Amino acid sequence: MFPDDATCLEYLVVSLYPDGIHCPTCQKVTKHHRDASRPSYTCQFCGHHEHPMKGTIFEGSATSLKLWFDAIYLMASTRCGISAKQLEREIGVTYKTAWRMFKQIRSMLDQDETFLSGVVEMDEMYVGGKDKWKHEAKRPHAGRGAVSKTPVHGMVQRGTDGKHGRVVAKVVADTKADTLIPRAKMHILPATTVFTDEMRSYNDLEDLGYAHDRVNHSQGVYVSGDVHTNTIEGFWATVKRGIGGTYHAVSTKHLQSYLDEYAFRYNNRDAIGLGMTGAFLAAVVRKDAS
Ligand SMILES: [Zn+2]
Repeated sequence: MFPDDATCLEYLVVSLYPDGIHCPTCQKVTKHHRDASRPSYTCQFCGHHEHPMKGTIFEGSATSLKLWFDAIYLMASTRCGISAKQLEREIGVTYKTAWRMFKQIRSMLDQDETFLSGVVEMDEMYVGGKDKWKHEAKRPHAGRGAVSKTPVHGMVQRGTDGKHGRVVAKVVADTKADTLIPRAKMHILPATTVFTDEMRSYNDLEDLGYAHDRVNHSQGVYVSGDVHTNTIEGFWATVKRGIGGTYHAVSTKHLQSYLDEYAFRYNNRDAIGLGMTGAFLAAVVRKDAS
């Protein structure tokens, strides 16, 4: 679908200006003509040049728009994501360029605007060390030789009516109530039903007006009626498989961007049209562009 730079730019314009290009000089939506020698458009009345890539991840890049689209397609279309190394090979750029593109594309996928309601499951996982991925309760007590692990907090809204659920996952400093409760408030709408395990940090959820129910994992109870945290644990399993299989090792520094990508994939599984590639492309926005 995207054989050259011109096609990619046209797609970007339709996506970024769904109502047409608004000329900042004429103050109206006017016809803009594609410039021949550069990736911009000129207003038919006043000659204003509009640069669609301004403020996007493509701005100022020496890499062609077609390669960017190729990279987005590759990242979006493989189920578990690809590594920067694979990107380097597939599109024929240097590793440094591939890594930069990779990070830029991921940077579009943050989860700040995700809000959950209905039935939400909340849970934590730990990353790092030899016995990574284990729950806090199953880990040996910290002490001599203990490897510090990075906690990740997650919340998933269960799907209904055949629609998939949505997830938010964030690297947190610790799993104390003071850390986790504000995260719940930030992403979960009032009066939502929230299911967790027995961890004490979740005690205050009821006071916030949520309907809160727990499963007692420590007593071997994992499902009680429809009270369980299997959906969020399924998401953790997907992340584990992806990181283990594709990325081998994840530093704490980059963990959040991996989580952003996995959450984005999870939340856009129903994407139609261009599918996941379309969802990635729709995430391209102009930040601070006039
Ligand atoms: Zn104009």
